Amino acid sequence: MKKLEDYVRSIPDFPEKGIIFRDVTSVLQDKEGLKMSIDQMQALLEGKDIDVIVGPESRGFIFGVPIAYNLNKAFVPVRKKGKLPCETVEMEYALEYGTATIEMHKDAIKPGQKVAIIDDLIATGGTIEAITKLIEGMGGIVVKIIFLMELEGLHGRDKLKGYDIDAVIKYE
Ligand code: AMP
Repeated sequence: MKKLEDYVRSIPDFPEKGIIFRDVTSVLQDKEGLKMSIDQMQALLEGKDIDVIVGPESRGFIFGVPIAYNLNKAFVPVRKKGKLPCETVEMEYALEYGTATIEMHKDAIKPGQKVAIIDDLIATGGTIEAITKLIEGMGGIVVKIIFLMELEGLHGRDKLKGYDIDAVIKYE
């Protein structure tokens, strides 16, 4: 039987030289791959008391919403700057070249709510670090962070010390 990692297509030198791009579309376009990825990410939340799942645009939506639905929890999107219609909180963070800004609606997380963050992949950890700051700024408590894939060689976890982090597939 195929394992989940067998569904991930790895593309060398995309989007630039030296990067191995870990493609999730090859997982999603197979019904077994889709099911396994959702089920295995969701299993990492077992026993965790959470109120809401937060997922960043756009691949965090793909995995976050079905897991929130299955667990009967709410889902809160994190978006790139300028997309959300109501009052927002925002956070700028460093990319390899330049910076990016993400936003959440200011009333999306209530003080004391227990949050799980879900995304497709952790590379440098910059995106998720910015999201933890936004959630905590609204009074939320980050109880778990889950990825489908982790690029261990980029040491993203170093930016997220003290958080409970899990990934289904780990690459060196
Ligand atoms: P980071 O903030 O560096 O942890 O990376 C944030 C996002 O960039 C991840 O959630 C991925 O969607 C994307 N990303 C970074 N590196 C890769 C890679 N090698 N393959 C696929 N996606 C990547």
